Amino acid sequence: MAAHKVICWDCGAEVTDPFVNTCPKCGGLLTVKMDLEKVKEMKPTDLHKTQIGVWRYAPFMPVDPAHKVSIQEGGTPLYPVKALGETIGCKNAFVKFEGLNPTGSFKDRGMTIGVSHANELGAKVVGCASTGNTSAALAAYAAKAGMKCAVFLPSGKVAMGKLAQALFFGAKVLSIDGNFDDALALARKMADERKLYLLNSINPYRPEGQKSVLFEIMDQLAYDVPDRIILPVGNAANIWAVYKACMELKEVGWIDKVPMLTGIQAAGSAPVARAFEAKNKTFEPEPNPETVATAIRIGNPVSGRKALAAMYNTGGYCTTVTDEEIIAAQQLLGRKEGVCVEPASAASVAGLKKLIEIGVADKDERVVCICTGNGLKDPDTIINNCAPPIKCGNSVADVERILSE
Ligand SMILES: *Cc1c(COP(=O)(O)O)cnc(C)c1O
Ligand SMILES: [Zn+2]
Repeated sequence: MAAHKVICWDCGAEVTDPFVNTCPKCGGLLTVKMDLEKVKEMKPTDLHKTQIGVWRYAPFMPVDPAHKVSIQEGGTPLYPVKALGETIGCKNAFVKFEGLNPTGSFKDRGMTIGVSHANELGAKVVGCASTGNTSAALAAYAAKAGMKCAVFLPSGKVAMGKLAQALFFGAKVLSIDGNFDDALALARKMADERKLYLLNSINPYRPEGQKSVLFEIMDQLAYDVPDRIILPVGNAANIWAVYKACMELKEVGWIDKVPMLTGIQAAGSAPVARAFEAKNKTFEPEPNPETVATAIRIGNPVSGRKALAAMYNTGGYCTTVTDEEIIAAQQLLGRKEGVCVEPASAASVAGLKKLIEIGVADKDERVVCICTGNGLKDPDTIINNCAPPIKCGNSVADVERILSE
């Protein structure tokens, strides 16, 4: 574990109370400042030889492995996607498939660090508001840690697989009358009154674990830095985590350039993309976010300002894709690459296609699309967008006729 401090991202004040989630002085966003002096003496080959996943990068993590709560998260594949790339006009595209984490999304990377930190603090009750994947991950890690877990879900808007997971892992699943932003407000009130330890991404420890996706990509590309990394943006912590990881690798001298970090939002839920287009550092919340990509259906993204900084500081970009473009990209991943992602995750691939069409990305760029979650999380959307099973008679001739169509 590296030494670290929790500081305010806005005013720089150090924050020592582990139960506050915003700066007591200015109300700003918190972040972890790592002391990487020791890591500067290391090289990538000094990382653990056989361990894969988040804890391989323990020297960059603010939690002592002695308190580790892990289900072997991370270590996901980085696919070169030639066929998909040819279809959308990008020669050097890769997909980092985060759907192969233990609970099926990148949220596990943050949760192993967040719940390990809760364990370090002796927390007995943890909680979060969620569009689904955060609650699925927290429920699993709380079960592993033997902690009580409360998840606050917006009523009726959570994909079936995610709800099933939260119930299955034994969390108290609370259906809140309102959208994600309302559910988060209630969870934060509970945390302020110290009734639970909050593990939304406003918690500065979770993005620390999420940094590991970038560390892994660099390992998988032998530290040959890609030109661009594309991510879907919802609450906007993940793109911030990837940015922070880039800055830390640069600080320790393991990389000398940084990819253009590019965020993609759904057209019906795009406060960050609108701010980027207007070149603003802050955003106006979207009161009625709507999209098939429920994991990024967020109107008031907690880390929106950090995400904007990440994109501006790396020469990146931010734009929107429609629900139709998201579903088309999801199907392309399935039909061309045998990869099944949930709609929010397909936004990164839909975004790459759009960036090439509008001339922002070059066809020769080396691009990594982060596909954040597994398609089986949301089977309804898949079935609604595929042709139904074909009625077939009980003979070889019947089958042959259908196969020849
Ligand atoms: C949480 C989530 C996102 C959005 O990540 P943010 O950090 O909130 O921007 C995207 N895709 C999936 C599958 C998610 O679970
Ligand atoms: Zn502050």
